[in-house]
Amino acid sequence: MANDDYKLEDITNEAGRSLASNFIQNIITEDIKNGKNDSRVHTRFPPEPNGYLHIGHAKSICLNFGLANNNGGICNLRFDDTNPAKEEIEYVDSIQEDVRWLGFDWEDRLYYAADYFDKLYEFAIDLIKQGDAYVCDLSPEEMKEFRGTLTEAGKESPYRNRTVEENLDLFDRMKNGEFPDGARVLRAKIDMAAGNINLRDPVIYRIQRGTHHRTGDKWLIYPMYDYAHPISDALEGITHSICTMEFEDHRPLYDWFLDKIAYGVEKYGRPQQIEFARLNLTYTVMSKRKLRLLVENGLVAGWDDPRMPTISGLRRRGYTPYAIRGFCERIGVAKRNSRVDIALLEHCIREELNSEATRAMAVLNPLKLVITNYPADQVEWLETENNPEKPERGTRLIPFTREIYIEADDFMENPVKKFFRLSPDKEVRLKSAYIIKCEEVIRDEESGEIIEIRCTYDPETKSGGPKAGKKVKGTLHWLSVRHALPAELRLYEHLFKEENPDEDEEADFTNMLNPNSLMILDKARVEPMLQEAGKEERFQFMRQGYFVADLESKPDKLVFNRIVSLRDTWGKLRAQKE
Ligand code: ATP
Ligand code: MG
Repeated sequence: MANDDYKLEDITNEAGRSLASNFIQNIITEDIKNGKNDSRVHTRFPPEPNGYLHIGHAKSICLNFGLANNNGGICNLRFDDTNPAKEEIEYVDSIQEDVRWLGFDWEDRLYYAADYFDKLYEFAIDLIKQGDAYVCDLSPEEMKEFRGTLTEAGKESPYRNRTVEENLDLFDRMKNGEFPDGARVLRAKIDMAAGNINLRDPVIYRIQRGTHHRTGDKWLIYPMYDYAHPISDALEGITHSICTMEFEDHRPLYDWFLDKIAYGVEKYGRPQQIEFARLNLTYTVMSKRKLRLLVENGLVAGWDDPRMPTISGLRRRGYTPYAIRGFCERIGVAKRNSRVDIALLEHCIREELNSEATRAMAVLNPLKLVITNYPADQVEWLETENNPEKPERGTRLIPFTREIYIEADDFMENPVKKFFRLSPDKEVRLKSAYIIKCEEVIRDEESGEIIEIRCTYDPETKSGGPKAGKKVKGTLHWLSVRHALPAELRLYEHLFKEENPDEDEEADFTNMLNPNSLMILDKARVEPMLQEAGKEERFQFMRQGYFVADLESKPDKLVFNRIVSLRDTWGKLRAQKE
């Protein structure tokens, strides 16, 4: 969809607009002022437990819990678990973990739509008795045919005028397992000519055998989402039912149900549904179905693969709850669908880590460098700052010796123009150490590959020394060969090659996967202090990006994920714009 494309202006306009001033908040402010629902604010986050949560859900979580928190209200967590076939406890657990990790608390208000199955069933009986629902024997294909189209009215089912007695009897037998799955359904009797197709006698109950994670084998019939959802909201006393735009056309149906069963839920008042635009991000997909397909087909390592837009993936990648909440706040809330540049998400974590992360040295592709005039057995512990943005974080000591590693990329035998790093006869500064000069390049005799650089150092260029202020163009990070620890570093690129990988719903989006989305560097070296790196601690590896220890990291095999590189494409875009 062309109008779904992200435009820089949209983001710039949205940025900085806080949750305190979105259009939903305005509605709530008005409702509180008018004493609607006794000025209560009660929201809910209602996931279906059929997959792990993604960053789109984070937007909904921040919105629902945020609006409750900001307005003296409360927010429920409710599993919309009306489909026994697709739902699993693993998802129920992961969803709770993710909401908590994001920093939100549903206190004692954890609910399941399944808790309302008895009530929903009673309400269905009432609808039948009122003449508002009937059992229909049309096959799914016939139902589809009878439904009509956007321009054509539907046709009434031949079963539409069954008597109340017959309907009660058949519905009871559906419940008792007398018919096979899919043989019959219970439908609301509304209007087959309604302009809104959702009102053309929608199905409210289906026969479906399958063990439900909460109710086991008790039920053979299950309520449809559109029936269960608005009633669950009403039963919980939800005041503002916030959902995504695709439910806008379902609102008249929800209102119809609530009108018809008003005697059952009237004491709570009516939830007001308010729709907002879903979050879409560039270079990824955001539907649980598609994410599940990636996991089930082994195209990623799991739901928490650090390339996934899932909360668990982002967590493993090294994102913080703070950065994700900040992102959700910056994108704002609107009615118009758009695709947000993933660079904005990266910008949010980069901004946080720039001020928070401890600096460390890591060499991704080591090249050995020998300082020929430095004593062979000497070790100097040189002082270096932990975080230049936060001087109060102090300094640490790093070992300097005659043999060090530098980044292979930081040396060029025949330097291109503006290459300010090391090349023959040139000088560079080693961060927090000395200025060195390249004297000789050693090659492997057989392969011709450069295997070692020989340099000399100037002892007077040390910090505090007489030539400390000497100017050279480049500063390199480095590690003492003797002290450096081997580590595996995992670098990530976007999961997909295309900005909008599922633009064409007909095409196979998995063809758009980026073959370079994971690069494993297994010869890397890191600073000794990283032996102790905790899983929650994030570092800036100087000149290389922000990193966090992976779940799989162990003291005898260190593994770090690159969260983001240092280059801020979003900040850069914005700067150009200004
Ligand atoms: P998906 O299409 O990814 O399967 P869903 O809407 O089916 O998502 P639910 O478990 O039903 O997933 O979603 C729970 C809540 O999160 C709903 O209120 C839904 O509207 C909201 N939500 C889901 N995806 C997004 C998104 N991309 N942006 C904002 N809110 C979302
Ligand atoms: Mg859904």
